[in-house]
Formats: sequence, structure tokens, C-alpha cells
Amino acid sequence: MVDLYGDAVERIESTWGVDNLSLYAFAMEQVADSIVITDSMGKITYVNKAFEAQTGYDRSMALGNTPGIVKSGKMAEAFYERLWAILGAGETFKGIFVNRRIDGVLFSEEKVITPLRDLNGAITHFISAGRDVTSRLESERRLRELACFDDLTKLYNRASFFEQLDVLISASSERCNGVTLLLIDLDRFKGINDALGHDIGDQVLIKVAERLVDATRLGDIVARLGGDEFTVALAGPLTDTDRESILQRICATVEVPIVVSGTPLYVGASIGVSRFPDDGGDSKALFKQADISLYEAKREGRGRAKHYSPALRKNAERYHQIYQAMRHAFGARELWVAYQPVFDLKTRKVVGVEALVRWNSQTLGTIMPAEFLPVVCDLGLGHKLTDFVLEKASSDIARANAELGVSLTVAVNVPAEELHAPGFAAKVEAALRRSALAPTSLKVEITESALIPQGESSTSALEALANAGVEIVIDDFGTGYSNLGYLSTLPVSSLKIARSFIEKSGRSENSKKIIRAIMMLASNFGVGVIAEGVETSSELEFLEEEGCRLIQGFLIARPMPIGDLINYMNSYSKEADWTRGGTEKQK
Ligand code: C2E
Ligand code: CA
Ligand code: CA
Repeated sequence: MVDLYGDAVERIESTWGVDNLSLYAFAMEQVADSIVITDSMGKITYVNKAFEAQTGYDRSMALGNTPGIVKSGKMAEAFYERLWAILGAGETFKGIFVNRRIDGVLFSEEKVITPLRDLNGAITHFISAGRDVTSRLESERRLRELACFDDLTKLYNRASFFEQLDVLISASSERCNGVTLLLIDLDRFKGINDALGHDIGDQVLIKVAERLVDATRLGDIVARLGGDEFTVALAGPLTDTDRESILQRICATVEVPIVVSGTPLYVGASIGVSRFPDDGGDSKALFKQADISLYEAKREGRGRAKHYSPALRKNAERYHQIYQAMRHAFGARELWVAYQPVFDLKTRKVVGVEALVRWNSQTLGTIMPAEFLPVVCDLGLGHKLTDFVLEKASSDIARANAELGVSLTVAVNVPAEELHAPGFAAKVEAALRRSALAPTSLKVEITESALIPQGESSTSALEALANAGVEIVIDDFGTGYSNLGYLSTLPVSSLKIARSFIEKSGRSENSKKIIRAIMMLASNFGVGVIAEGVETSSELEFLEEEGCRLIQGFLIARPMPIGDLINYMNSYSKEADWTRGGTEKQK
């Protein structure tokens, strides 16, 4: 028989050198772990200070009670059954308890309960040593959560989305069910985030996440991939009609204004769609196809869903090629500026030109602006392009004017982002000074979208330009949504009638009416009109009858390099026939 008592006393004596049972007791009393001793029936016979601090029960309340006083009711009965089975067999039990303090607060306690035996080996007591692990468990839980869920929206995060998608795909391939993957990018979110701050941006993302969950069904997977990009995997077989109605529901729910601190904020959803197994055999392929479709959806004007097709893939490949080639275009001097004459029907003279950027790529050949401008924008090179055209056009036309002894105007296209960028007007004035072009010879062409009120910045840029003597022309007038009341307050000098109306004027009464209305509007506001894209003499006759003076279009001349423009100017005055556009030449 082991002499437990003797062993213990001896151990203490050899450690502290004295027969010091009271030290034993002090140690028990002061140890940081919460100690509870019960008799064999489970009645508490001793608790230490740590127990009092941890549970809020003082010794007098605990003694005579059972440890059940801290029971929370959160543990399954099976847990206690196992505990008693182990202790009853005389073994040590280890486990984590969820207990309740006297004030009701729950805490997690990691406990070791050991049976105490008397000199005969009979169990007389149980001693439990426990420590509070609430905060450790909480941080472990947070870590697990962080690994799976997006902290802000509580949706799945990117990594766990792909895991879930893989599971969904393999389940669907067994049941031949199909999966539809939606890649969702918020429209206009960046503007809100930049202008109103990240806190407001976060509120918008949280709201969108809730709405996406509401718009989908149980079993679908909704996740946030990062930034303003979300994704939804629709499980199960879906008819085309089902799929369309879900897509519409998602677009519509995201478009409902989100009210943050009383202010309605407007975002929208662009969605790229791909399907398993038709478009891709695994999550990676599916995601790539949805990404291609999303890009097309955004390119086509946002707020819409685009389904994957092999043709989209071709577009994406072309985009990628252009993207790569454009990185070197500025450095390699592959960009140049063409000039398209503007003709005055009254004086029968060329009075100005529009500067149009051109790109002769060494690897891809000639590419037109409609195709490469979006890439310039995506590469963040928009301001570089505007600077380049502005510098080149001012110096080319200043030189041409000096050489020809004329005073042609030159119109430069300026996208909204450049116009609103700080210091734009100063940049224009600097370019004018460097080239010695008269400010009155420069026109800045902006689209109606650049006129959406943006606070101080847009009006101040326009006013600074106008004050400097530069004319403001509204390009493609009639195709946007101008606020006429606001327009009338801006220093605009001309409206350029969009080519789409001129083109249809021969066959569409409506287009004629629109052209007349624009002429009337311009005359009432006391601003000029330019008709662009004039290709036929009947279009020209109609415009002349309506009193439109300034004409631009292939009928007069195509855009051309500066050298050709000078030759053209030299020769056209000697010829009677000025309607000889021909084909656009390369530099
Ligand atoms: P835009 O400003 O409306 O320019 C007029 C476009 O119509 C030019 O196309 C011009 O070549 C074309 N055009 C002119 N007359 C006719 C005609 O009689 N018939 C037809 N079918 N087309 C005609 P381009 O040069 O391809 O430019 C397309 C658009 O790209 C421009 O539309 C403008 O929005 C943008 N763009 C062109 N150059 C620049 C530039 O230097 N900077 C910026 N930001 N945008 C530019
Ligand atoms: Ca233009
Ligand atoms: Ca135009």
C-alpha cells in the first residue's frame, strides 16, 4: 500500500526543509487556479481565494453546497455522465465547463478533477483545479471565424467561398444538377467610398450583403471576395427563366437606395454569369468565365448581367493584348493626333479642327480610340493621354496657323475625370502658353455626363477655362441626360449634335425633330451648334436649311495627320469642291 499521506509530508519537508503543513495550506489558498475540494458525496468542503474571485461566491456560500451552484445549464447531460463515470472509476477527469458566476455571467473553465484517496485507497474527496479560459476560447473562435468569414459583412470570405464552391460542384456533378456562378461588382461604390469615407462605404457593403442573402435561397452560397466584389453560387437545376428572375431580383435589390444617416446612396450591380458544367468544369474555370462576363457587363454600361459565351472570351483576349501593348505605347511614341476639319457653311471655309487621338501599335497595328480608350482608363493613364493630346494639338495648330496665316480653332476631347481633376484649368493655360496658341483658338469638348453636378469642382473648372477664353463644347449633345436648368448656368459656348441623329436624319422624322429642337435650344440659350458625322449631301442640305453653320464629317474630310492638314488647307482654298472626304489615311 502506498503511504500517500507520508509521501506528501515528506515531499513538502524535503522541499521546504520544515514540517510545514500550513505552507501546504497557504499554497492551496494562494495558487492562481481555482481549487474546489468536495467530499465523496460531492459536497464542497473547501474553496480557495481564486474560486471566490472567479465565481463571485464567497466561501461561506460555497461550503456545504455542491459545485452545481456554478452550473450554467449549457452543458449536455452526457458530459456529466461521462465525468462521473471517469471519477467513479477513480481516474482523473479533464474537460472544459461552461459555468455561471453568481452575477449570471457565463465563463469557460478548463478543469482537472482528481479523486483523493485515504490511506486505505478509498475515495474520500475530489479536488478540482480550474482556470478561466473564456478569453482564450473567444480568441480561438475569432481566429476560426476570421479564417472563414468576412469580418465586415459576415459572409463567407474568398478562401472559404472556393472551398464551398468545390463542394457544391462535386455534389452537383453527382446529381447532374448544375451550378450558376454570379460575380457581382458594385457600380458607383468607389465614388461613395472616396467622397463620403470608409465608414459610410462599410455601411453600404453591409447592407448590400444583407440584400444579397435575402435575394437568394437557402443552399446558395453568398460571399464577399474583397472590396466591393461579391459572389453568389446558385445551387441546383435552374431554368433560364428562373436564372433571369434571380438576376433581375439581385440587380433590383442592389439598386434600391441605401439610406445612411438619412442620406440615400445609389449603387448598382454589374454581374458576370457562368454555369457549371456548360462554361467550365471546375471552380477556377467557372470563376474565370464569370470574370470575363463581368468585365463585359461593366463595359456595356453597368447595372446589368452578362452571360459567358466564347465570343466574350475573344473580347477578353483582345482586351488583354491591348492592355499589354498600351503599357508601352506612350514610351514608344506610338500615339499621335489626327485632325478633322470643321467647315463653316456660311463662309465656305475650314474654320477649325477636332483633335482625335490615334494609335499605331507596333504589335497590333492601327487601333481606334473606341477600342483603346477604355484600356487607357483602366491603366490609369487617362490624364497622361489628355496631357499628350492637349500639348500636341496646341503646338501643331499654333504652328499650322502661323505657317498658313489663318486662325483655326482646335477642339480637344476631355473626359469628365480629367475635367474634374484639380488643377485642370491651370494645366490647359500652361499648355497654351508653351505653344503660344491663343486661348480663343482652343475648344474643350466634354460630354453631358461631365456636367452632372459634382459640387464646386466641375463648375469651377469650367469657369476657369471660360475666363481664360477657352470655349466649352458639349459633345454628342442629346444622347445624355442634361439637366437643362443646370446647363443654362454653365459657361458653355456650343452644342455638338451627336452623329446618331445626323445619320438617321435622312430616314427618321424623329431625328429631324430632335435636330431642330437642339438648334432651337441653342439659339434660345445664345450658344453655337456644330453638326458632326455628316456623310451625305442630303444630310448637309437639311442642316443648311435648318440654319446650322458648322459642319464636321467624312463628307468634308476625314481625320488626318498634321502634315496632310496643312496640304489640305493649302489646296482646298484653290478648289471649288470641298466635299471630298476620301478614306482616312495613316500617318
Ligand atoms: P467623338 O468625340 O464624338 O469624335 C468623333 C468621332 O466620329 C471620331 O471617331 C471621328 O473620326 C468620327 N467621325 C467624324 N466624322 C464622321 C463621319 O462622317 N462618319 C462617321 N461614321 N464617323 C465620323 P474616333 O476618332 O474614332 O473617336 C471616337 C471617340 O473617341 C471620340 O468620339 C471621342 O469620344 C474619343 N476620342 C477620340 N480622340 C480622343 C482624345 O484625344 N481624347 C479623348 N479623351 N477621347 C477621344
Ligand atoms: Ca468630340
Ligand atoms: Ca461627338
